[in-house]
Amino acid sequence: MHEFRIETKHRTHFVNIDRQVQEAIQASGVGEGVAHVFVPHTTAGVTINENADPDVRGDMDSILDRVVPWEGGYAHAEGNSAAHVKTSLVGSHQAVFVVEGQLAFGTWQSLFLCEFDGPRRRKVWVRVVSGG
Ligand code: ZN
Repeated sequence: MHEFRIETKHRTHFVNIDRQVQEAIQASGVGEGVAHVFVPHTTAGVTINENADPDVRGDMDSILDRVVPWEGGYAHAEGNSAAHVKTSLVGSHQAVFVVEGQLAFGTWQSLFLCEFDGPRRRKVWVRVVSGG
């Protein structure tokens, strides 16, 4: 398994991690298979979405805030319940096909680490599986 770290800069921060995942694929030597990307945290997750217009990330941030506001009368004493809920909404895992040693994305797609309680130093785990 391959691990890399990401320094997030804001409370909510969508960080493109294509390059780091692609490096993990190269290191694995796998040409055809699946790259599993897993974020081992409870207040940060991973998603796939548009990499072209940054307004898409801005809209995701503002809509998630509308659905799960930071101040919401939550019980969890640490004070970051919104970040926990948002993490469950986006999830902790993505699987991307690997074709000819490259991440196989649709046009405009990229992988984003989704920070919801930053800034923090986050880990990302990648396991590249050969074949199906
Ligand atoms: Zn917490």
